[in-house]
Amino acid sequence: MFESLSERLGGVFDRLRGRGALSESDVRAAMREVRIALLEADVALPVVRDFVDKVTEQAVGAQVLRSVTPGQQVVKIVHDALVDMLGADASALELDVTPPAIVMLVGLQGSGKTTTTAKLAKRLSERDRKKVLMASLDVNRPAAQQQLATLGEQVKVATLPIVQGQPPVEIARRALNAAKLQGFDVLMLDTAGRLHVDQALMDEMKAVADVARPQEILLVVDSLTGQDAVNVAQSFSAQVPLTGVILTRMDGDARGGAALSMRAVTQKPIKFAGTGEKMDGLEAFHPQRVAGRILGMGDVVSLVEKAAESIQVEDAERMAAKMAKGQFDMNDLRAQLAQMRRMGGLGALAGMIPGMKAAKQAMASGAVDEKILLRMDAMIGSMTPKERAKPELINAKRKIRVANGSGTTVQDVNKLLKMHQEMANAMKKIKKMGGLKGLAAMFG
Ligand code: GDP
Repeated sequence: MFESLSERLGGVFDRLRGRGALSESDVRAAMREVRIALLEADVALPVVRDFVDKVTEQAVGAQVLRSVTPGQQVVKIVHDALVDMLGADASALELDVTPPAIVMLVGLQGSGKTTTTAKLAKRLSERDRKKVLMASLDVNRPAAQQQLATLGEQVKVATLPIVQGQPPVEIARRALNAAKLQGFDVLMLDTAGRLHVDQALMDEMKAVADVARPQEILLVVDSLTGQDAVNVAQSFSAQVPLTGVILTRMDGDARGGAALSMRAVTQKPIKFAGTGEKMDGLEAFHPQRVAGRILGMGDVVSLVEKAAESIQVEDAERMAAKMAKGQFDMNDLRAQLAQMRRMGGLGALAGMIPGMKAAKQAMASGAVDEKILLRMDAMIGSMTPKERAKPELINAKRKIRVANGSGTTVQDVNKLLKMHQEMANAMKKIKKMGGLKGLAAMFG
């Protein structure tokens, strides 16, 4: 999977990596190629746009780390953006309830639902030592229930005895009772599919979900259908509370567009990938590993990660120099916020700076979390370079633009500007008191 994308990106980066210095136009040219590579991989257009914008902005604005080349740094930025696009963390199944935990699989006919139900049951019983019961609610396709029973024998997982003529909701009730009475840990419900998304199918699924109250509702989609897979996921997720997606036939999907767009378009994590017809062809979906596989540049990524550890020192040095001059613009605030995020707390200077004190208090009370820091970063990201250097340019109209661009409100933008203003004032005071010596005097 992802071979062609991987090859294309590899070419782009090989060209970048050789260079000692990268100009903004180098980065932009490279990003045009990345854009084409993603579109050719069949990634949804809005997702490609967001991705390229984000990476371009970060790559152009990035402080180059001392011990790596700019090209290597761009690889790392693309890698991180890919991980983000794929959903950051691997998401496990939430089965931590009083047994039986209910897992319901939904999807179109032929997507691989029944196969995946059996694969997942095998995995849960073998790896997680769960006692699993499977039941097929597919009364439309004559052989469907028997197909699951046969697979059950193959993977040594129990299936609910078939009673001819029972409607899906009744089968779900019977399965639930059996699972409770016989002490199963997990009940897996394989639902009926249709050729297309239709209302009768959705209604049936909702009725089953009402009865079974599943902890997990997993949508099974065929990755080979590319953009269609994403559309199907969107229609399902509008109607049933999906908890995740399983992409099948990843073994045959060289392009990978469905995998890459799925998270951004549906906001649902990909939890597993089907990688073959055999019963062990199912893998947990790890965004980090997948991004690594796409880029095939794990060495570069870890190199840059190591170098980034030293950036804190560089940041602090740069900040100190700025403080001595009494300067503090949005770029500095952004660097400070990034440091706060990296350190999972307050940056080196934060405790000393009045504007940050409020943030510190809020943080102590748990009110400032990663999300707020990211939101502030998004707001600064939506400012133009001029606005970042001179935040006083940001008038009412610009505030609206920044708020819209970052998915926040004008109120949020005002808060950010106020925080920046307080910090900048503090910097000026420090300068008046004689730069760093003054700082020392002020804070002892
Ligand atoms: P359902 O109608 O959604 O229940 O689909 P099935 O489970 O019957 O699967 C349809 C076909 O797809 C079967 O031939 C499966 O062997 C095949 N299949 C399912 N998942 C995968 C996968 O991850 N890779 C490959 N290569 N084939 C798969």
